[in-house]
Amino acid sequence: MRQVVMYGPGDVRVEERADPTILEPTDAIVRLSATCVCGSDLWPYRGAEPVDHQVMGHEYVGVVEEVGADVRTVAPGDFVVGSFWASDNTCEICRAGYQAYCVHRVLMGTIGTQAELARVPLADGTLVATPGRPDPDLVPSLLAASDVLGTGWFAAVAAQAGPGRTVAVVGDGAVGLLAVLAARQLGAERVIAFSRHADRQALAREFGATDIVEERGDAGVAEVKARTGGLGAHSVIEAVGTQEAMMQAIHATRPGGHVGFVGVSHDVAIPGDDLFMAGVHLHGGPAPVRQYLPHLIQLIWDREIDPGKVFDLTLPLDRAAEAYRAMDQRTATKVLLTP
Ligand SMILES: [Zn+2]
Repeated sequence: MRQVVMYGPGDVRVEERADPTILEPTDAIVRLSATCVCGSDLWPYRGAEPVDHQVMGHEYVGVVEEVGADVRTVAPGDFVVGSFWASDNTCEICRAGYQAYCVHRVLMGTIGTQAELARVPLADGTLVATPGRPDPDLVPSLLAASDVLGTGWFAAVAAQAGPGRTVAVVGDGAVGLLAVLAARQLGAERVIAFSRHADRQALAREFGATDIVEERGDAGVAEVKARTGGLGAHSVIEAVGTQEAMMQAIHATRPGGHVGFVGVSHDVAIPGDDLFMAGVHLHGGPAPVRQYLPHLIQLIWDREIDPGKVFDLTLPLDRAAEAYRAMDQRTATKVLLTP
């Protein structure tokens, strides 16, 4: 099969590799219908994380080709969506809804789903079959559920987005945009999206943003306060992972409010005095996407949401290097790869 390998920063190649095989009786082999490049893949691409001949990709949808002897809930021929953490979905942590911290978890990025085939460990706990074979136009949205939608959803839940609440979203990448969608789906009355890019502002509005703020940092915080009677938002979602974004999120939250943070942290250090004086709730981390998959798949299946709109470029897997370049140079928000 063909698979994407990052040799080093900026060096993405597509190679022939051996087809995956069943290693554990709980494994499934999935023929991938679509995969994509994640914003988090850009950290090693830009040299901000070490990388050396690493297989890439952790978002995936496809058709089950083969299952191990112990797999019960999915079968060959099923179209499935999985989370970027494989999880048993039965341990105490999973049952509490935190499948990203499953005691048996496996990070799909270590297996690499930017490929034609992938071995999915803990198939029963990880994969969710769709009600049938999806129409082709639903595939991008189902793929979004695998990470960016699920992550945005978790961020909105962690920030306690809901009726009567004003939600601000820091970050206009795919996760931030889908956090806007999630916040509205969860009933938020007002959603303020921080964005400086006209195309992303338009998509944020389409997903339900009521306000757009172009300022960032302290000026962005001041703008949120000006629009919320001087109080700050009830809920703020941080979907970037930098120091500036995290502090912007904390400072834009009103006392007693909630910050949901899902941007992969890079050297974020929250000063104790800022934290002490803010009086806000903080919750976040790697999203337990698996918890939300059945609900998200149903919303997509019923065409109530269209998160696949975050994909603004589709390329064949063989042109993965171009996909990384487009996202690195921000000429694309998110690139879908077809086999
Ligand atoms: Zn578990």
